[in-house]
Amino acid sequence: MASPLSTGGPGALFSGDPLEPVLDLFARYGDSGYGGEAVTQLEHALQTATLAAAAGSPDSLVAAALLHDLGHLLHELPDDAPDKGIDDRHELLAARKLTALFGPAVCDPVRLHVAAKRYLTAVEPAYLEILSPPSRTSLALQGGPMSPDEVAAFEREPHWRDAVQLRRWDDEAKVAGLETPPLAAFADILRGCIRDPLAG
Ligand code: FE
Repeated sequence: MASPLSTGGPGALFSGDPLEPVLDLFARYGDSGYGGEAVTQLEHALQTATLAAAAGSPDSLVAAALLHDLGHLLHELPDDAPDKGIDDRHELLAARKLTALFGPAVCDPVRLHVAAKRYLTAVEPAYLEILSPPSRTSLALQGGPMSPDEVAAFEREPHWRDAVQLRRWDDEAKVAGLETPPLAAFADILRGCIRDPLAG
């Protein structure tokens, strides 16, 4: 299937567009529900990336925001897996997939965005109040608030602050019907973050 973005950008000069596998996931599964929220996976990704861009973030963090939940598109579990007591470990699935294309500035915030929720519930008790019901359900499955030792370990992770920031946009990016730029508007940002375009 042709990617909606495969005709643009320098990557199109090469027969194998390195972004194709990632973009195809959105093309195929982006319309699936975002875990009990009022937006689709693609809408959620675009809203998160739009918030990151509006905050003046570096391209690597905008890319991480766009791709942070890619793991939900990489498994066959139902949208309501947490209601069935299943932690899909989507942050690890996504980080593993993205490591082939992007460096740690993109992959680390993706890998850590669930840990960032556990972190924030530990260091900011009021944060728990803003979590949506599905997010609270998954929090319990993901281990609940971090212990003091886990907090200290998290703060030693590279890019942990980016992960926390991403998490806050993630929590906001659930607005039904909100207009955002389309996926194609982020293509150049993604391409610019690829580690080595010629290696794709
Ligand atoms: Fe998310």
